[in-house]
Amino acid sequence: MVIYLDGKYVDSAEAKVSVFDHGLLYGDGVFEGIRIYGGNVYRLDDHLERLEMSAKAIMLSVPLDRAAMSEAVCETCRRNNLKDGYIRLVITRGVGDLGLAPWLCEKPSLFIIASKISLYPQEYYDNGLAIVTVPTRRIAPDALPSTVKSLNYLNNILAKIEAKQAGALEAIMLNQQGYVAECTADNIFTVYKGEIFTPAASQGALKGITRATVFDIAKELAIPMREADLTRYDVWCADECFLTGTGAEVIPVVKLDGRVIGTGKPGPVTDRVRGSFRQRVLVEGTRT
Ligand code: PMP
Repeated sequence: MVIYLDGKYVDSAEAKVSVFDHGLLYGDGVFEGIRIYGGNVYRLDDHLERLEMSAKAIMLSVPLDRAAMSEAVCETCRRNNLKDGYIRLVITRGVGDLGLAPWLCEKPSLFIIASKISLYPQEYYDNGLAIVTVPTRRIAPDALPSTVKSLNYLNNILAKIEAKQAGALEAIMLNQQGYVAECTADNIFTVYKGEIFTPAASQGALKGITRATVFDIAKELAIPMREADLTRYDVWCADECFLTGTGAEVIPVVKLDGRVIGTGKPGPVTDRVRGSFRQRVLVEGTRT
Protein backbone atom coordinates (compact mmCIF):
# COMPACT_ATOMS: atom_id res chain seq x y z
CA MET A 1 0.00 0.00 0.00
CA VAL A 2 1.23 3.46 -0.92
CA ILE A 3 0.58 6.32 1.49
CA TYR A 4 0.73 10.03 0.77
CA LEU A 5 2.79 11.58 3.56
CA ASP A 6 3.79 15.25 3.55
CA GLY A 7 4.29 15.57 -0.19
CA LYS A 8 5.73 12.12 -0.80
CA TYR A 9 4.26 8.78 -1.79
CA VAL A 10 5.80 6.17 0.50
CA ASP A 11 5.31 2.51 1.26
CA SER A 12 3.01 1.90 4.25
CA ALA A 13 5.96 0.41 6.18
CA GLU A 14 7.73 3.78 5.88
CA ALA A 15 4.66 5.92 6.57
CA LYS A 16 5.44 7.02 10.12
CA VAL A 17 4.76 10.06 12.25
CA SER A 18 6.75 11.24 15.25
CA VAL A 19 5.89 10.35 18.84
CA PHE A 20 6.05 14.13 19.38
CA ASP A 21 3.27 14.79 16.87
CA HIS A 22 0.44 16.56 18.70
CA GLY A 23 -2.06 14.58 16.67
CA LEU A 24 -0.89 11.59 18.69
CA LEU A 25 -0.08 13.35 21.98
CA TYR A 26 -3.31 15.39 22.18
CA GLY A 27 -5.62 14.36 19.35
CA ASP A 28 -4.81 17.78 17.91
CA GLY A 29 -5.79 17.58 14.27
CA VAL A 30 -8.63 17.01 11.84
CA PHE A 31 -9.61 14.31 9.39
CA GLU A 32 -11.99 13.15 6.71
CA GLY A 33 -13.34 9.74 5.75
CA ILE A 34 -14.15 9.61 2.05
CA ARG A 35 -15.45 6.91 -0.30
CA ILE A 36 -14.45 6.00 -3.81
CA TYR A 37 -17.00 4.17 -5.96
CA GLY A 38 -16.07 2.77 -9.37
CA GLY A 39 -13.07 5.09 -9.62
CA ASN A 40 -15.05 8.23 -8.64
CA VAL A 41 -14.35 9.93 -5.32
CA TYR A 42 -17.73 10.73 -3.82
CA ARG A 43 -18.35 14.42 -3.03
CA LEU A 44 -14.63 15.11 -2.73
CA ASP A 45 -15.11 18.85 -2.84
CA ASP A 46 -17.62 18.75 0.02
CA HIS A 47 -15.22 16.66 2.10
CA LEU A 48 -12.35 19.05 1.40
CA GLU A 49 -14.53 22.02 2.28
CA ARG A 50 -15.51 20.42 5.60
CA LEU A 51 -11.84 19.62 6.25
CA GLU A 52 -10.87 23.25 5.62
CA MET A 53 -13.60 24.45 7.98
CA SER A 54 -12.63 21.94 10.68
CA ALA A 55 -9.02 23.15 10.35
CA LYS A 56 -10.06 26.79 10.47
CA ALA A 57 -12.07 26.18 13.64
CA ILE A 58 -9.02 24.79 15.45
CA MET A 59 -6.66 27.34 13.87
CA LEU A 60 -4.72 24.75 11.93
CA SER A 61 -3.40 25.62 8.51
CA VAL A 62 -4.12 23.19 5.68
CA PRO A 63 -0.80 22.43 3.96
CA LEU A 64 -2.30 22.25 0.43
CA ASP A 65 -4.88 24.29 -1.43
CA ARG A 66 -8.14 22.69 -2.57
CA ALA A 67 -6.90 21.70 -6.04
CA ALA A 68 -3.62 20.24 -4.77
CA MET A 69 -5.45 18.37 -2.02
CA SER A 70 -7.91 16.96 -4.52
CA GLU A 71 -5.05 15.85 -6.75
CA ALA A 72 -3.21 14.23 -3.82
CA VAL A 73 -6.34 12.23 -2.92
CA CYS A 74 -6.84 11.08 -6.52
CA GLU A 75 -3.16 10.27 -7.03
CA THR A 76 -3.11 8.19 -3.83
CA CYS A 77 -6.06 6.19 -5.17
CA ARG A 78 -4.37 5.78 -8.58
CA ARG A 79 -1.10 4.62 -7.05
CA ASN A 80 -2.98 1.99 -5.07
CA ASN A 81 -5.14 1.10 -8.05
CA LEU A 82 -8.12 1.69 -5.76
CA LYS A 83 -11.48 1.90 -7.55
CA ASP A 84 -13.77 1.09 -4.63
CA GLY A 85 -12.76 1.80 -1.08
CA TYR A 86 -12.30 4.20 1.75
CA ILE A 87 -9.92 7.14 1.91
CA ARG A 88 -8.66 8.58 5.18
CA LEU A 89 -7.27 12.09 5.02
CA VAL A 90 -5.59 13.36 8.18
CA ILE A 91 -3.96 16.64 9.14
CA THR A 92 -2.15 16.66 12.48
CA ARG A 93 -0.76 19.70 14.28
CA GLY A 94 2.69 18.26 13.69
CA VAL A 95 5.76 17.85 15.87
CA GLY A 96 5.98 19.98 19.02
CA ASP A 97 7.20 19.67 22.57
CA LEU A 98 5.40 17.92 25.42
CA GLY A 99 3.29 20.98 26.27
CA LEU A 100 -0.08 21.73 24.71
CA ALA A 101 1.04 24.84 22.81
CA PRO A 102 0.08 24.33 19.16
CA TRP A 103 2.13 27.37 18.14
CA LEU A 104 5.29 25.47 19.03
CA CYS A 105 4.45 22.88 16.40
CA GLU A 106 6.35 24.01 13.35
CA LYS A 107 4.32 22.53 10.56
CA PRO A 108 1.23 20.39 10.23
CA SER A 109 1.54 16.88 8.89
CA LEU A 110 -0.77 15.61 6.15
CA PHE A 111 -1.30 12.01 5.20
CA ILE A 112 -3.72 10.12 2.99
CA ILE A 113 -4.53 6.42 3.23
CA ALA A 114 -6.49 4.77 0.42
CA SER A 115 -7.79 1.47 1.70
CA LYS A 116 -10.56 -1.11 1.62
CA ILE A 117 -13.84 -0.49 3.33
CA SER A 118 -15.45 -2.70 5.96
CA LEU A 119 -19.20 -2.25 5.92
CA TYR A 120 -21.87 -3.48 8.30
CA PRO A 121 -22.76 -7.08 7.38
CA GLN A 122 -25.38 -7.22 4.56
CA GLU A 123 -28.06 -8.72 6.84
CA TYR A 124 -28.36 -5.37 8.65
CA TYR A 125 -29.04 -3.52 5.38
CA ASP A 126 -31.73 -6.12 4.61
CA ASN A 127 -33.28 -6.42 8.07
CA GLY A 128 -32.20 -3.29 9.94
CA LEU A 129 -30.07 -2.62 13.00
CA ALA A 130 -31.11 -2.85 16.65
CA ILE A 131 -29.41 0.02 18.48
CA VAL A 132 -29.37 1.42 22.01
CA THR A 133 -29.06 4.76 23.74
CA VAL A 134 -25.82 4.95 25.75
CA PRO A 135 -25.18 6.91 28.97
CA THR A 136 -22.23 8.90 27.60
CA ARG A 137 -23.53 12.27 26.40
CA ARG A 138 -22.30 14.07 23.30
CA ILE A 139 -19.78 16.78 24.18
CA ALA A 140 -21.59 20.13 24.19
CA PRO A 141 -20.97 22.16 21.01
CA ASP A 142 -19.76 25.09 23.14
CA ALA A 143 -17.04 22.81 24.55
CA LEU A 144 -16.05 21.24 21.23
CA PRO A 145 -18.16 21.92 18.14
CA SER A 146 -19.56 18.64 16.79
CA THR A 147 -19.14 20.15 13.32
CA VAL A 148 -15.36 19.93 13.71
CA LYS A 149 -14.23 16.51 12.55
CA SER A 150 -11.28 16.41 14.90
CA LEU A 151 -8.87 13.65 15.90
CA ASN A 152 -10.49 13.79 19.35
CA TYR A 153 -12.93 10.88 19.14
CA LEU A 154 -12.77 9.69 22.77
CA ASN A 155 -16.30 10.90 23.43
CA ASN A 156 -17.56 8.70 20.58
CA ILE A 157 -15.26 5.82 21.54
CA LEU A 158 -16.65 5.74 25.09
CA ALA A 159 -20.13 5.55 23.58
CA LYS A 160 -19.00 2.82 21.18
CA ILE A 161 -17.69 0.75 24.11
CA GLU A 162 -21.05 1.11 25.84
CA ALA A 163 -22.83 0.08 22.65
CA LYS A 164 -20.73 -3.08 22.46
CA GLN A 165 -21.35 -3.86 26.12
CA ALA A 166 -25.06 -3.63 25.36
CA GLY A 167 -24.63 -5.95 22.36
CA ALA A 168 -25.32 -3.25 19.74
CA LEU A 169 -23.29 -2.20 16.71
CA GLU A 170 -24.27 1.47 16.92
CA ALA A 171 -25.71 3.73 19.61
CA ILE A 172 -27.55 6.98 20.02
CA MET A 173 -25.74 9.72 21.93
CA LEU A 174 -27.91 12.35 23.61
CA ASN A 175 -26.79 15.91 24.19
CA GLN A 176 -26.68 17.64 27.59
CA GLN A 177 -30.37 18.56 27.26
CA GLY A 178 -31.39 14.97 26.57
CA TYR A 179 -32.10 15.46 22.87
CA VAL A 180 -30.79 13.02 20.29
CA ALA A 181 -27.51 14.32 18.85
CA GLU A 182 -26.28 11.55 16.57
CA CYS A 183 -24.78 8.07 16.72
CA THR A 184 -21.15 7.27 17.51
CA ALA A 185 -20.10 7.49 13.84
CA ASP A 186 -23.35 8.09 11.96
CA ASN A 187 -26.08 10.70 11.66
CA ILE A 188 -29.63 9.68 12.57
CA PHE A 189 -32.98 10.24 10.86
CA THR A 190 -36.58 9.44 11.70
CA VAL A 191 -39.55 9.20 9.37
CA TYR A 192 -42.91 10.17 10.83
CA LYS A 193 -46.11 10.55 8.84
CA GLY A 194 -44.19 10.77 5.59
CA GLU A 195 -41.70 13.40 6.76
CA ILE A 196 -37.97 12.95 7.43
CA PHE A 197 -36.42 14.50 10.54
CA THR A 198 -32.81 14.80 11.67
CA PRO A 199 -31.13 16.66 14.56
CA ALA A 200 -29.46 19.98 13.76
CA ALA A 201 -25.73 20.48 14.18
CA SER A 202 -26.58 22.76 17.12
CA GLN A 203 -27.86 19.65 18.93
CA GLY A 204 -24.43 18.03 18.64
CA ALA A 205 -24.51 16.41 15.20
CA LEU A 206 -21.73 16.38 12.65
CA LYS A 207 -22.79 17.93 9.36
CA GLY A 208 -22.41 14.63 7.58
CA ILE A 209 -21.75 14.54 3.85
CA THR A 210 -24.15 11.59 3.57
CA ARG A 211 -26.65 13.60 5.64
CA ALA A 212 -26.36 16.44 3.12
CA THR A 213 -26.99 13.91 0.35
CA VAL A 214 -30.19 12.80 2.12
CA PHE A 215 -31.42 16.42 2.06
CA ASP A 216 -30.77 16.46 -1.72
CA ILE A 217 -32.49 13.10 -2.19
CA ALA A 218 -35.53 14.19 -0.16
CA LYS A 219 -35.84 17.28 -2.33
CA GLU A 220 -35.55 15.25 -5.52
CA LEU A 221 -38.09 12.68 -4.35
CA ALA A 222 -40.38 15.43 -2.97
CA ILE A 223 -40.27 13.95 0.53
CA PRO A 224 -40.66 16.68 3.17
CA MET A 225 -37.57 16.88 5.35
CA ARG A 226 -36.36 19.17 8.12
CA GLU A 227 -34.07 19.46 11.10
CA ALA A 228 -35.87 18.91 14.41
CA ASP A 229 -35.25 18.38 18.12
CA LEU A 230 -35.70 14.65 18.63
CA THR A 231 -36.10 12.79 21.91
CA ARG A 232 -35.72 9.04 22.41
CA TYR A 233 -39.53 8.93 22.46
CA ASP A 234 -39.62 10.40 18.95
CA VAL A 235 -37.36 7.61 17.72
CA TRP A 236 -39.21 4.84 19.59
CA CYS A 237 -42.52 6.07 18.13
CA ALA A 238 -41.28 6.92 14.63
CA ASP A 239 -42.58 5.03 11.60
CA GLU A 240 -39.02 4.49 10.39
CA CYS A 241 -35.47 5.25 11.43
CA PHE A 242 -32.20 5.10 9.52
CA LEU A 243 -28.56 6.11 9.93
CA THR A 244 -26.13 7.59 7.45
CA GLY A 245 -22.37 7.79 7.20
CA THR A 246 -19.62 7.59 4.65
CA GLY A 247 -18.84 4.05 5.77
CA ALA A 248 -22.37 2.91 6.60
CA GLU A 249 -24.07 4.68 3.66
CA VAL A 250 -27.82 4.48 4.47
CA ILE A 251 -28.75 1.74 6.94
CA PRO A 252 -32.18 1.05 8.46
CA VAL A 253 -32.75 0.90 12.23
CA VAL A 254 -35.64 -1.27 13.40
CA LYS A 255 -35.19 -1.25 17.15
CA LEU A 256 -34.07 1.25 19.77
CA ASP A 257 -33.67 0.37 23.46
CA GLY A 258 -35.76 -2.78 22.96
CA ARG A 259 -38.67 -0.86 21.37
CA VAL A 260 -39.62 -2.00 17.87
CA ILE A 261 -39.69 0.96 15.46
CA GLY A 262 -42.66 1.00 13.08
CA THR A 263 -43.29 -2.44 11.59
CA GLY A 264 -39.90 -3.72 12.76
CA LYS A 265 -38.77 -3.93 9.14
CA PRO A 266 -36.91 -1.39 6.98
CA GLY A 267 -39.60 1.07 5.83
CA PRO A 268 -40.56 2.36 2.37
CA VAL A 269 -39.07 5.85 2.80
CA THR A 270 -35.77 4.38 4.01
CA ASP A 271 -35.78 2.03 1.01
CA ARG A 272 -36.36 4.91 -1.42
CA VAL A 273 -33.61 7.02 0.15
CA ARG A 274 -31.23 4.04 0.09
CA GLY A 275 -32.05 3.26 -3.52
CA SER A 276 -31.49 6.83 -4.60
CA PHE A 277 -28.24 7.00 -2.65
CA ARG A 278 -26.92 3.85 -4.34
CA GLN A 279 -27.70 5.42 -7.73
CA ARG A 280 -26.00 8.70 -6.90
CA VAL A 281 -22.69 7.25 -5.74
CA LEU A 282 -22.32 5.52 -9.08
CA VAL A 283 -22.72 8.65 -11.18
CA GLU A 284 -21.54 11.51 -8.96
CA GLY A 285 -17.96 12.07 -7.93
CA THR A 286 -14.52 13.20 -8.99
CA ARG A 287 -12.95 10.89 -11.55
CA THR A 288 -9.52 9.66 -10.42
N1 PMP B 1 -21.25 11.61 12.95
C1 PMP B 1 -20.02 11.26 13.33
C2 PMP B 1 -19.62 11.42 14.75
C3 PMP B 1 -19.12 10.73 12.38
O1 PMP B 1 -17.88 10.38 12.75
C4 PMP B 1 -19.54 10.57 11.04
C5 PMP B 1 -18.57 10.05 10.01
N2 PMP B 1 -18.46 8.65 10.03
C6 PMP B 1 -20.85 10.93 10.70
C7 PMP B 1 -21.67 11.46 11.67
C8 PMP B 1 -21.35 10.79 9.29
O2 PMP B 1 -20.77 11.78 8.47
P1 PMP B 1 -20.43 11.51 6.94
O3 PMP B 1 -21.73 11.23 6.24
O4 PMP B 1 -19.79 12.76 6.47
O5 PMP B 1 -19.52 10.33 6.89
